[in-house]
Amino acid sequence: MYKKKILRLSLDDIDTQYYGCTTYALSQIIKELIPIGVSFIDYPHLVRLNPNIPWKTRGNGAVSIIFIYDNKDKVFEIANQIVYENYTKAAKKSTPAIILCEEESITKELINFSEEALYKVLSVKKAKSIIQKHNILYKTYGGDLGLIGALAALANPLTEHTYELICYRLPKNFGLPRKVDKESIIKMSEQTFPYTYNNYDPISKRILVTPHGNDPILFGIRGISPNKLVEAFNMIKVDEEISHFLIFKTNQGTNAHLNFPFKICDVKPYYSVKVKGHVRTNPIISNGGHVFFLLSDGTSEINCAAYEPTKAFRNIILQLRVGDYIEVGGGVRPPNRRYPLKLLNIEYINILELAEDYIYGNPLCPKCGHRTKSLGKNKGFKCKKCKSSFPNLIKEKKIIPRNITPGIYIPPPSAHRHLTKPIQYYTIDLRINAPFDESLFYRQFN
Ligand code: ATP
Repeated sequence: MYKKKILRLSLDDIDTQYYGCTTYALSQIIKELIPIGVSFIDYPHLVRLNPNIPWKTRGNGAVSIIFIYDNKDKVFEIANQIVYENYTKAAKKSTPAIILCEEESITKELINFSEEALYKVLSVKKAKSIIQKHNILYKTYGGDLGLIGALAALANPLTEHTYELICYRLPKNFGLPRKVDKESIIKMSEQTFPYTYNNYDPISKRILVTPHGNDPILFGIRGISPNKLVEAFNMIKVDEEISHFLIFKTNQGTNAHLNFPFKICDVKPYYSVKVKGHVRTNPIISNGGHVFFLLSDGTSEINCAAYEPTKAFRNIILQLRVGDYIEVGGGVRPPNRRYPLKLLNIEYINILELAEDYIYGNPLCPKCGHRTKSLGKNKGFKCKKCKSSFPNLIKEKKIIPRNITPGIYIPPPSAHRHLTKPIQYYTIDLRINAPFDESLFYRQFN
């Protein structure tokens, strides 16, 4: 007889561009674990990792569950079987990883690894050395790369978190157009705001809940309360049979990847960073509609970009002037031939202090108050009206009013990444846990 223990199971890298989804494989495992008497302790975790990793398939997500059970081997066998089935259906093109451990294995070192996976580029070697030290069971297929994400998902405490209700399709519908009523999504998103977020973008008029690929997801509703998500789910009209839904607790919408301050000289390609500094060049807009400026913090300089898809956000960036003191967060691209400096793709800007913006112009006539014209370099000015000359008069500094105010600005929802914190959540405490409701988190329909 085994003793009941708190266990953690995590998965990553189940999907390819053409088949599967890591969250779906977890939902299949949960379906098998319920009848054998596993007691879940929390909502399943959907952990988004560094979104700037070049080898991610889509949103760099990994998943984990925490539960109480006595037979670790049985759980591992079930998970392994389901992952292997998904791996073969994905034509063995993915590199899935499964990890299972007891609660005692979640050490400080493992939590640090999870935290670093949010913003750095980590190695399989490092993941494996932690796994070996901590008596962790694992299995991989096709390579070990998936171990990084699976290990990171295992120990992320999700201190700040939101929730996502993911609704899955029946396998017979995979690849067919999704029959979800647009109007009902718009209505749901208006009526459940601010408890749900980024499900519809009123600016671009785009539905954001439905993915576009062949994957098994029908739609995913994002929000901050599991109860509200079920309410929102009931408001969506669907014209195809639903398989099941699962509610995840997640770091989506929390900016978890942008919590780490960097000096510009330490910024590395593919990292997610936040840096503070002074604007060094006034922004310019390229032919493609991308906006660029240089930022300096005294240790080095970095090129910052707001790309065309960030739409009206670029109008804020275009208002920046040399000397403004700002904080920016985003992903770092390596230098290339076109941009010889590292480039930060801005995901949010916090304007801390505005510099004075000014131009020098011809002074007014001291006699009659009309505008003067220049008599040539260092030769003074002559009044256009009364014709008096003033050889000692110099150019006048004219303050240009600024059209922005200090504060935080972010791109519109259609340009958000999974981790982007919506503007309305900057003033909400996302650390508050909804008590885990076992009757709510999983529902099977067909
Ligand atoms: P989806 O969101 O649909 O699950 P995905 O974008 O998560 O797809 P994966 O198939 O999971 O894509 O691939 C991401 C890969 O990157 C995984 O193998 C994971 O182990 C690895 N990875 C995740 N975070 C890091 C990191 N910080 N450093 C290095 N590798 C990472």
